[in-house]
Amino acid sequence: MDKIDVKIPDGPLALKWTKYKASSKLVNPANKKKLEIIVVGTGLSGASAASSLAELGYNVKSFCYQDSPRRAHSVAAQGGINATKNYQNDGDSVFRLFSDMIKGGDFRAREANVYRVAEESNRVIDQLTALGVPFAREYGGTLDTRSFGGVQVSRTFYSRGQTGQQCLIGAYSALIRQIKKGNVKIFPRREMLELVLIDGKARGIITRNLITGEIERHAAHAVVLATGGYGTIYFLSTLAVNSNASAAWKAHRRGAYFANPSFMQIHPTCIPQLNDFQAKLTLMSESLRNDGRLWVSKTKGDKRHPNEITDEERDYYLERKYPSYGNLVARDLASRATKERCDAGYGVGDTGLAVYLDFRDAIKKQGKEVIADKYGNLFHMYKTITGIDPYVEPMQIYPAGHYTMGGLWVDYELQTTIPGLFSVGEANFSDHGSNRLGASSLMQAACDGYFILPVTISNYMSDQIKVPKFPTNTPEFDEAENTVKEWLNKLMSVKGKQNAASFHKRLGKIMWDYCGMIRNEEGLKKALTLVKQLKEEFWRDLNIPGTIYELNQELEKAGRVADYFDLATLLITDALNRKESCGAHFREEYQTEDGEPLRNDEEFTYVAAWEYAGENKPHILHKEKLKFETVEMKVRSYK
Ligand SMILES: Cc1cc2nc3c(=O)[nH]c(=O)nc-3n(C[C@H](O)[C@H](O)[C@H](O)COP(=O)(O)OP(=O)(O)OC[C@H]3O[C@@H](n4cnc5c(N)ncnc54)[C@H](O)[C@@H]3O)c2cc1C
Repeated sequence: MDKIDVKIPDGPLALKWTKYKASSKLVNPANKKKLEIIVVGTGLSGASAASSLAELGYNVKSFCYQDSPRRAHSVAAQGGINATKNYQNDGDSVFRLFSDMIKGGDFRAREANVYRVAEESNRVIDQLTALGVPFAREYGGTLDTRSFGGVQVSRTFYSRGQTGQQCLIGAYSALIRQIKKGNVKIFPRREMLELVLIDGKARGIITRNLITGEIERHAAHAVVLATGGYGTIYFLSTLAVNSNASAAWKAHRRGAYFANPSFMQIHPTCIPQLNDFQAKLTLMSESLRNDGRLWVSKTKGDKRHPNEITDEERDYYLERKYPSYGNLVARDLASRATKERCDAGYGVGDTGLAVYLDFRDAIKKQGKEVIADKYGNLFHMYKTITGIDPYVEPMQIYPAGHYTMGGLWVDYELQTTIPGLFSVGEANFSDHGSNRLGASSLMQAACDGYFILPVTISNYMSDQIKVPKFPTNTPEFDEAENTVKEWLNKLMSVKGKQNAASFHKRLGKIMWDYCGMIRNEEGLKKALTLVKQLKEEFWRDLNIPGTIYELNQELEKAGRVADYFDLATLLITDALNRKESCGAHFREEYQTEDGEPLRNDEEFTYVAAWEYAGENKPHILHKEKLKFETVEMKVRSYK
């Protein structure tokens, strides 16, 4: 049965959210005290949701696998967070942010959700500033902004190259306040391994204590998944190495639809892979493209030192191809243009899989101090990793897996297809369509957690006030706990020779080669076969030392990789199904004469929401039709 009910309020776009807020059901403060909510994840979306729900009066239980909520992956975000304050008076507005995101996402996002995020963006900056986030300021004291890709205004608020860290510390301090007040109970070093449903509603989770290995039961009236993205499916990516999809996948297996899994963002500016022993790649923030210029030599295989190559001999290929946006073109286009130059033999460095990101002109014009003020920590990081000083020599960069626009399907209320199960932040399929614009993830994560979920969840919770707290000794909890134990025993009992990371690495290579920046039918079909073969090998030859009931990081990794095999299959299936190119999903067969993505609006203007049909059974596709009533559907052009 198709469970898609989007619940978008009627009325003009700009009034939908106001109308929703005015008419949604409330829970009175005395009743909120009787209700419990589980929030899994303590990144910007989870920490903001947990602290806001607790502030409202709900009893919140907050989970993460790190030793402290403050270590969630959001801490890594560098460049900034968007809002439409228009301090620069450069023509920004709620509508412009909305239309930039709709266009940037290549018309594959839901208008009502995107407009709502744009509307709430300014409150996020006020909220974070009130929490003490030290955003960069102008000389006169107002907050400073900079530009990010795919837009022509300056709307990105930032704390040097550490915006995520500062925002997360702010969100964390509000969370700690609620923990101290007794409204939030925190469960660090816990991994959610199963979702518990009672009468079809999400009522709890099963976790593994990562220190002792103990399997635990937790009940609540509602569950929120704020568990982040799955970019590590490529093994090498800019994400934290432990980021994974398992919580979302377990929910998917229990009935939550998974939307647009193949919409993966490949970020254009990362430090290229240096050797075969790396477990992760490092991002060089998009903010660097404000002042840095991308180029390669006009001569194939040019091995000269970059500083010896004259301006006339350089191809500033983004400025050449996209004169209006230049180096600040959207990420998917910048990544593919870089790949194209490298594939054509113009790449630089030892491998030829790199291009230059050069600050020579910016330093000449603005001075080293100004550049250091803006990007000092990023330059320092680059030098520490590569040994090259970007103040005197251009950086070498190459695209890498970075962000997942796909995720759990949610309706306007951020509720999945399982009643009582909500999802926020990168874990949901979000508001970014087929390509996310820079600095809009922190914005969405914080909007979801601070201003959207606390309102929408009350519609659901208002029906729960007569439901007593749940015991955990029910048959449903027994069944879920047994499923977890069987799963862990299955992993432990393979007793083969290869560790989980070696499988993950090989899986990542298949995904990168056949389902990365450029995809085609033949490659995707080949990838399906290769993933199937590798999965069979995994279940024949996996080795996990130790036992379940102790600290066992190999077991943790193995579980996540096992889920990745199944998600990889769905991701490739989704990419095969979408016979068009849109945003980051570039199918070689569908391109314009000058190599740009060719959408098929007639057949594919929909969100692909996949239903789990059972072990080894093909997923069932449900289509959420997208309607563009406000922004005219056009060919996206940054030229
Ligand atoms: C290097 C880098 C730089 C970036 N820079 C920017 C930027 O400048 N601006 C921007 O807007 N975006 C940026 N992004 C993207 C942005 O940082 C993320 O999309 C965003 O922080 C995700 O936040 P989140 O709350 O959804 O999830 P996360 O921060 O990923 O948090 C996930 C949480 O879920 C928990 N969790 C996951 N699974 C389980 C489980 N099974 N059991 C228990 N807990 C679990 C984890 O412990 C963690 O607490 C960047 C991303 C990267 C990789």
